[in-house]
Amino acid sequence: MNKNTLAVVLLLAGASLNGQGPIVTTAPEGGPPLKVTILGSARGPQVDLRRFGASILVETAGGDKLVFDCGRGFAQRLTEYGVPLRTIDKLFVTHLHSDHILSIPDLLMVGFSQGRKGPLQVWGPAGTKSMMDFMMKTFEFDLRVRSEFNAQLSKDGMRSSSTDIQEGTIYEDNGVKVTAFLVDHGPIKPAFGYRVDYAGRSVVMSGDTRFSENLIRHSQGVDVLIHETEQLPPPNSKQSEQERARQEKAVRQLHTLPEETSTVFNRAMPRLAVYSHGGSPAIVAEARKTYSGPLELAEDLMTIEIGEKIEIHRPKR
Ligand SMILES: [Zn+2]
Ligand SMILES: [Zn+2]
Repeated sequence: MNKNTLAVVLLLAGASLNGQGPIVTTAPEGGPPLKVTILGSARGPQVDLRRFGASILVETAGGDKLVFDCGRGFAQRLTEYGVPLRTIDKLFVTHLHSDHILSIPDLLMVGFSQGRKGPLQVWGPAGTKSMMDFMMKTFEFDLRVRSEFNAQLSKDGMRSSSTDIQEGTIYEDNGVKVTAFLVDHGPIKPAFGYRVDYAGRSVVMSGDTRFSENLIRHSQGVDVLIHETEQLPPPNSKQSEQERARQEKAVRQLHTLPEETSTVFNRAMPRLAVYSHGGSPAIVAEARKTYSGPLELAEDLMTIEIGEKIEIHRPKR
């Protein structure tokens, strides 16, 4: 256990005294049932050289690997984490904003050329199937010439199989259950959050949303709640009143303010809340005014092991 991990375990142990649910700090037998890795924690579509685009890997003790969103830099971070792209064949998309889907071609094509055995399965909101059909068309030439050049490559691995989902249980196999629930991303409809349940442990990912009662409903009893957030733009003397009002309206329409996430956390009572795709020390300080439970700020390649205790490992950089 390194220093960072120890600090978090102590933090969580302390938090249980604040009525945030029992945190048992003895090590579980074997590995944790669920391991969550933040592959990309960046906010929005702008290019950020330190944080890559929205993407989260969920691994189960049963060996399943599920990816949620596939933003810019997904392939780099997954490789840095040590997982080959060919081993990923299940992708769940929260919504079709570009910063959540930009790296799907990398997953599709590099996974195939590395020897993915079966089709890339993609679940997402209405429009996902059509997007994947066009993507297959885009790479038709490369898929063909690569498979002709290397007969070892699986014909099944060339394919994608995609589903436009509705709210509800959308995947259940090998003890893993994935539930999609509607969130409120303003005019971007539909947009989903996801909950993964495995061996009595669970994680919820908000996707992009403004304050959502439905998210609170689906987060009851969850171990880890990963939530987006955004602050209102700070006053800027170079900006016109109109421009500032426009930006403020956009944030309120599309995202959850720090004080609103506090309400979400206080009502869902996760064992651990995490900000990803948004969040900063200033935002944490803002949320802290009205939420005293365990709360962490994600960074790329941070892992969260969910068992009897919750352990966070931050990358050494
Ligand atoms: Zn986003
Ligand atoms: Zn979005």
